[in-house]
Amino acid sequence: MEHLKGLNQAQKQAASHVDGPLLIVAGAGAGKTKTITHRMVHAVCQGIPASSILGVTFTNKAAGEMRERVRALLSQERPDEWGEPTIATFHSLAVRLLREFGERIGVPRGFAIWDRDDSMKSLKAIQKDLGGDIEPRKILSAISAAKSEGKDQKAYAASASSYMERAIARSWEKYEADARAHDALDFDDLLLKTGELLRDPDIIARLQERYSHVTIDEYQDTNAIQYEIARLIAGPRMNICAVGDLDQCIYTWRQAKLENLLSFEKSFPGTLVVTLEQNYRSTQTILAAANAIIEKNTNRLPKRLYTENGTGEAITLAGLADELDEARYIASSVRELLASGTPAQEIAVLFRENFQSRALEEAFIRQNLPYRVLGVRFFERAEIKDVLSYLRAALNRKSTIDIVRAAGAPPRGIGKISLDKWREGGLDGLSGTAQAKMRTFLSLLDRIKASIETALPSETIRFVIGESGMRMKLAGGDAEDRERLANMEELASLGVSYDAMPPREGIERLLEEAALMSDQDSYDAGEGAVSLMTVHAAKGLEFEAIFVTGMEQGLFPAMRGDDRDPEEERRLFYVAMTRAKKKLYLTYARSRLKYGSREYGLPSEFLDDIDRRLIEEDLAFGVSRPRGGGGGILDMYEDEDTIR
Ligand code: ATP
Ligand code: MG
Repeated sequence: MEHLKGLNQAQKQAASHVDGPLLIVAGAGAGKTKTITHRMVHAVCQGIPASSILGVTFTNKAAGEMRERVRALLSQERPDEWGEPTIATFHSLAVRLLREFGERIGVPRGFAIWDRDDSMKSLKAIQKDLGGDIEPRKILSAISAAKSEGKDQKAYAASASSYMERAIARSWEKYEADARAHDALDFDDLLLKTGELLRDPDIIARLQERYSHVTIDEYQDTNAIQYEIARLIAGPRMNICAVGDLDQCIYTWRQAKLENLLSFEKSFPGTLVVTLEQNYRSTQTILAAANAIIEKNTNRLPKRLYTENGTGEAITLAGLADELDEARYIASSVRELLASGTPAQEIAVLFRENFQSRALEEAFIRQNLPYRVLGVRFFERAEIKDVLSYLRAALNRKSTIDIVRAAGAPPRGIGKISLDKWREGGLDGLSGTAQAKMRTFLSLLDRIKASIETALPSETIRFVIGESGMRMKLAGGDAEDRERLANMEELASLGVSYDAMPPREGIERLLEEAALMSDQDSYDAGEGAVSLMTVHAAKGLEFEAIFVTGMEQGLFPAMRGDDRDPEEERRLFYVAMTRAKKKLYLTYARSRLKYGSREYGLPSEFLDDIDRRLIEEDLAFGVSRPRGGGGGILDMYEDEDTIR
């Protein structure tokens, strides 16, 4: 029972409860994820085939980490072959199931996955055609919200009552048709269609046989359709284990339903509820500050969370003149941490909004510090999308978006008109030169296809970069071009981790993961670099030192609007602080460039809720000059006029 050693009493109780419904609730860092990892291993030791165990988590990175931990624990137990549990995100599980069974409900086997960009492109074109006056962004979020509730276009149209809803239903109908013409599903379709698939009695019977035990981490952030998927797979046996923390629900803006957690016992009668109270992650100082923040929320259940860890260092607070100073301050502090022995991969810089990363990146580059921006950005880069579009076009000639993109990267004189004509009538409709150009392009796609079928995925990517002419063009360009090329090469290095798979499957998996890197997710190129990411992306992770940046009113907490719940902002800050094991830094800037204009703000109200005795202000770099008399952090801003 090696795998139960090192767990506390409550954790052990949870880990050894293998059959029947189980709910583990606990605050941050109490070992929820650790417990379910050990529980999976325990189940295998009890004779449940590893392949019957399904674990679902929120991000690809978390899934990868859990897979590693289970693998390590299993190999400790006994060296012989155990097989492996399936550990996936809801989206990657959905892709897997749809590839296998989707044809039953009319989803083509080789379907493409549209990312947000693709969806926006389609909707923009549709709005232009329809002459509609609703922003495509709003339509997409309405469609997405409806799908997350399990509604398809028909159901939405049937219940649309307002002018706005009817207009959205019309655009949605066209959007649906466009996606179908491309053999494409968007993110939300992946879940929606999987829900539909699981209602097929034959399919669900097979899946319930395949997966006898289901575990879901970060359950507080599941939406209606994810709940449905989990419930259906668990079936009447109800071997379902959910793990969560109401205080860490940060996705209600994407229809996460707290009720899923709150009504778990009702949905699954006979549930054993285990609460964990000891935090093993953070120092007392960090935990006290985090508790003070979350206790201010009214919409929560009271909870005890303590730690036996030491007091640790004070929280460092620094106020800076602007975002550039803030970035410089952080870079210098990172340098000190590195010098005093903190490994780079144990440091993370968190921000509320993506735009904040630019200034930070520049400071890191200037100070020559190793860093990684985690999140969707890498796969959002135009040059990476270019390479991927060749792969997708080679695999799916119907994917117009990819054909158009690849045909133009680098430009090879194939215009939109030629492409349209070719799509409608093949090569015959084209003039002599256009035909020759198109032929060359199509034969390139054929050669790429052949490489996909036979070569290592990393080689195929290099083949695309070279044969497309992108390498030659970029290598001869300016510094930015060379950086683009370096990013493409980075994609090829990333491809190496797919080289062990059969060639085509490797590329398909790479494309899938690239498409599934939604913005809560992370791309991790490995050791030796400081992580820069949004607070949302940091969920579930831990680092020795954490910087929470942009602690300003209107940024963190974000501006109050219709869809911004102030309590959710607080939960988000709680998540941010509790990522830190040893040292927490909070920074704010007095002025910040936001979407092109300079704004002056006040420090975040959250700062006032932390006991001053836990905080040490760093004035070495800062502009803040505390006035006499002590008191609140906001004292120095009493006289707001002097700032403007
Ligand atoms: P979050 O809410 O942030 O997801 P969590 O509850 O999932 O946190 P884990 O990530 O599982 O917490 O654990 C937090 C840290 O505490 C990890 O480093 C883990 O190894 C450690 N830990 C958990 N339980 C124990 C234990 N019984 N003994 C020693 N260390 C533990
Ligand atoms: Mg966890």
